[in-house]
Amino acid sequence: MSLMKCRECGKEISDNTKSCPNCGYVYKNNNNLKLAIIILSSFIVILLLILSLVLIKENLNDNSHENSNGIYIDDDLNNNQNSEIDNNTQNNNYISKNDVLDIVLKDLSINSNDIYDVSIELESKFGKTVYDIDFNYNRFEYEYYIDATNGEIIKSFKEWD
Ligand SMILES: [Zn+2]
Repeated sequence: MSLMKCRECGKEISDNTKSCPNCGYVYKNNNNLKLAIIILSSFIVILLLILSLVLIKENLNDNSHENSNGIYIDDDLNNNQNSEIDNNTQNNNYISKNDVLDIVLKDLSINSNDIYDVSIELESKFGKTVYDIDFNYNRFEYEYYIDATNGEIIKSFKEWD
């Protein structure tokens, strides 16, 4: 217990007194308020931490998605691709994976429900940036190489699965 000056009369009084014995000024106990503020701040900090963790997790999950046809498309490009391709993809210099899938489906005159095990990857091949599309259809395994810039079908293969 130590002494402090009374806010009202300026006389030295005990710092844990409830009221000034001199002038009668009533002191509220600030300790509970301070404790409440500390607990509240900690709670907010923890809440923000949890929130940022959830957001980070959602961003990670967002790297892959299902397209409107429910076909799983992995957005991650090949690890051996350089970052230039990533940047160009973000700049929309290349046609999208959904568009490239449409080109393949139109080429075979089928719809997306007919194919399965679809994989679409951006690669450097034939001196160009191409989409390598693999999928199975009607017990055959198909592979397409499509120019990522103009959607031209460069090569396509069909193998008995
Ligand atoms: Zn006083």
